[in-house]
Amino acid sequence: MKAITCIRNARLRGKEFLFDIHLDHDGTIAKIEPATGATGTPDEIDAAGGLVIPSLIDAHLHLDLAYSLDIVSANKSGTLTEAILHWSAAKKTMTAESVKVRALRAIREEVSCGVGFIRTHVDVGSAAGMRLCEGVLAAREQTKELVGIQVVVFPQDGILKDRGAYEQMRAGLEMGCDLVGGIAHNERTDDDSKRHIDMLFDLADEFDCDIDCHIDETDNPESKCIEVMASKAVERRRRNRVTGSHVCALSSYNDVHASKVIGLIAEAGMNVVTNPGVNLHLQGRFDRYPKRRGLTRVTELLEAKVNVCAGQDCIKDPFYPLGTGNMFEAGHLLIHADHLSQPEQIEQVADMITVNPARALRLENYGTDPGCQADLVVLPVESMHEAFRLRVKPTAVLKRGKLVSP
Ligand SMILES: [Zn+2]
Repeated sequence: MKAITCIRNARLRGKEFLFDIHLDHDGTIAKIEPATGATGTPDEIDAAGGLVIPSLIDAHLHLDLAYSLDIVSANKSGTLTEAILHWSAAKKTMTAESVKVRALRAIREEVSCGVGFIRTHVDVGSAAGMRLCEGVLAAREQTKELVGIQVVVFPQDGILKDRGAYEQMRAGLEMGCDLVGGIAHNERTDDDSKRHIDMLFDLADEFDCDIDCHIDETDNPESKCIEVMASKAVERRRRNRVTGSHVCALSSYNDVHASKVIGLIAEAGMNVVTNPGVNLHLQGRFDRYPKRRGLTRVTELLEAKVNVCAGQDCIKDPFYPLGTGNMFEAGHLLIHADHLSQPEQIEQVADMITVNPARALRLENYGTDPGCQADLVVLPVESMHEAFRLRVKPTAVLKRGKLVSP
């Protein structure tokens, strides 16, 4: 991979004029100076007035699921429940090698779209065994020069419902996974969901790691796991170390209760990840018309200063037949789904695929300031607004100062 010494004629978010971004050989940004107008030598890149941003971040992905649509039975109802059922049957016979091959394809696709950090969930449990985890960890090892990947152990079929899953979560963390995952709403009763949440906090304490839990991924207004999780996060003083993924049911609560829950999420310092494409696709399936949009209350969470991120979630699998790994596409959908169309709101959506997930993933030295890691993306447009409108692919992607795509 070629080391780059300077990106010339670069535009930076929120700044006027053009800059030359000089890179150090240790893979960091050395200094930023007004552009001299020079064009690039072979170890330089000419951004030609295009926007340069830090790596895009996909805060929620399932690498073990990617490109599995054709090898799993068709999801005829289009619901989350049916997808889990078919996926559960299919993963029983999957090999670690086949998972690795599909994960590598998804990683390379995301890198070509400018993604430099991924948080992926990976199934463990009686159907998955440790094979899916092994496959994804092998893919991470093989691509560690291209992208930073955090792996979340994910008991897709429940913890109390699926005996042995908890021990396999522990085994996954011992194998090198980074976070405790969960699916609190996928237990038999509300009491079991509460026990599920307690067990996540116990395991996270045991390994001193963060939690990222699929939670209330349903339109059912009675699904209230998020308030249990947020109050636990307050009790156990886990500010900015707990993420709630999806949180769809929040949109179906009455406004009074939703306001209380949003206050609690803010008090707990929880991060929330919305997955616009998948939430639009899987939710609202029991509605006639009008159909709910399925996403959480993004605008209201932002107003309450909650750190909200957006994820791709799925690429061509039984949960979602589309998905490209292009975070501008996820943002494009989010702008539509929650009416985030004012110029300042479009910038907020840009934050949801860059600085907000950097905070949720607790990345250090992320950004475009001197001293930051030179994980940079050169875009063929002048603004994030245009990047969303055209769902662009980058003209250059750098990881630690080296060109990783194209
Ligand atoms: Zn997910």
